[in-house]
Amino acid sequence: MLGSMMQQPLLVSSLLTHAERHHGEQEIVSRRVEGDLHRYTFAQMASRARRLANALGALGVKPGTRVATLAWNGHRHLELYYAVSGSGAVLHTLNPRLHPDQVTWIADDAEDEVIFFDLSFLPLVEAIAPRARTLRHYIALTDRAHMPAQTRIPNLLCYEDLLATQLDRFEWPVFDENTASSLCYTSGTTGNPKGALYSHRSTVLHTYAIALPDSLSCSARDVILPVVPMFHVNAWGLPYAACMVGAKLVLPGPFLDGKSLHTLFEGEGVTMSAGVPTVWQGLLAHVEANNLGFSTMRRTVIGGSACPPAMMQAFQERYDVDVLHAWGMTEISPLGTACTLKPRQLRLPAQAQLALKSKQGRVVFGVDMKIVGEDGRELPRDGRAAGELLVRGPWVVSRYFKGAGGDPLVDGWFPTGDVATIDADGFMQITDRSKDVIKSGGEWIGSIDLENIAMSHPEVAMAACIAARHPKWDERPLLVVVRKPGSTLDREALLAHFEGRIAKWWTPDDVVFVDAIPLGATGKMLKNKLREQFADHLLQAA
Ligand code: ADP
Repeated sequence: MLGSMMQQPLLVSSLLTHAERHHGEQEIVSRRVEGDLHRYTFAQMASRARRLANALGALGVKPGTRVATLAWNGHRHLELYYAVSGSGAVLHTLNPRLHPDQVTWIADDAEDEVIFFDLSFLPLVEAIAPRARTLRHYIALTDRAHMPAQTRIPNLLCYEDLLATQLDRFEWPVFDENTASSLCYTSGTTGNPKGALYSHRSTVLHTYAIALPDSLSCSARDVILPVVPMFHVNAWGLPYAACMVGAKLVLPGPFLDGKSLHTLFEGEGVTMSAGVPTVWQGLLAHVEANNLGFSTMRRTVIGGSACPPAMMQAFQERYDVDVLHAWGMTEISPLGTACTLKPRQLRLPAQAQLALKSKQGRVVFGVDMKIVGEDGRELPRDGRAAGELLVRGPWVVSRYFKGAGGDPLVDGWFPTGDVATIDADGFMQITDRSKDVIKSGGEWIGSIDLENIAMSHPEVAMAACIAARHPKWDERPLLVVVRKPGSTLDREALLAHFEGRIAKWWTPDDVVFVDAIPLGATGKMLKNKLREQFADHLLQAA
């Protein structure tokens, strides 16, 4: 027997309509590329999104047309999020930190027809324009006064001019909730990037999931500042969640240094933020050096790579900011797990709580996960057995855009490429990415554990642990470290710091001190680059 409830499609536009109607007065504050602060309300944003939808129609954008952006977190980018998807087209957020060749490749693969970009990316757009095969319209996200006097881009359009000529009247079309809403490419650390094509349904369900209290816990009383870029997996869904719950949204534009962020946190009363570990390093260093604190920020979501417990501890103990460790990936929209403790665990001593919070956490309802051994058989959830992590759920990809790479699923599950344990309480802990794992004499050594220990040394600014070739053990851990300014920390002192914290055979064989560790387009350490550079380090030393 069928239920008799309404079949209302879950559409991205409904988030905007809801925000306008019920939180119309709520603010959106953006640091513009020009440097000043822009403020308006959800009602004004919704009105401009309707004008933009009309402008897209005038440009010939049709249902399914891919509309690209190269933009920071800002109010115009937000308008594009809603106007493009809301009108049935597909928002494709390009990552401006990639090499121009790669951006061109991705735009071609996606068959982007229109591109909107912040003026900071004019040189990048000029580099790709002569080569991009499908782009027809170029629009600068600025007003007439800031339009470049000269550019190599033919017929460059001005965003504010486009909106000014359009009416605020537009009916958001109603269509199948499985229609594609946005497209995001993986960073392609191995091979060409592949597109994850989200649907309206997956996006709205994911938005419900991230807003839940034990998930990222977003509410109308929050002031949310996503540091994670809107070009990186839709800023983890926060621009959608803000509309769903009516939270004030603060968008930092290109100004992501510690000082700019801290000024914005304090000035706008930010209560919650989100980003990868490397961005918080700059913020913490600034706050520490200037003896500052956080008067309103109470929690921050850290994910994208493992958050070192030392960073968690600094936020918690020195600044009373709760760190919520979360795990996800482009293919999962991105949220898979969040690490909120259960009531019983909140009564544990601080150290035990910290150990739990360093895990990547529990699945949010909707995502199902398991770990499997090399034979594909499920491993026990005992917190010890480590195996490849597989997931499934309504916001997990079933295939890549245009079928790239063939069928990725194994018996209906998506293999994440992460190696993890799951404990009896359901807390998942990533021990490694399968390509980063160190195989010493046939046994696995988890590089993340070793990095966390190195990071807990007060003189270490950044640490990566990689597999280096070894004549006897095949591979052994090699630690690559950036010292804090002024530090004279040496190999022996750092390795002594591992004693008693880890099984002796896990201790890195050597330490290389470097000035900087290369970071990828999403702020993660590029361990493959380090492996290329230092793969033979131990052979040479032997
Ligand atoms: P890529 O880094 O390939 O662009 P994503 O940005 O989608 O892809 O990142 C997904 C990967 O990032 C995960 O598979 C995992 O390896 C890593 N990751 C994400 N969050 C965490 C976390 N909290 N701890 C450890 N690793 C994480």
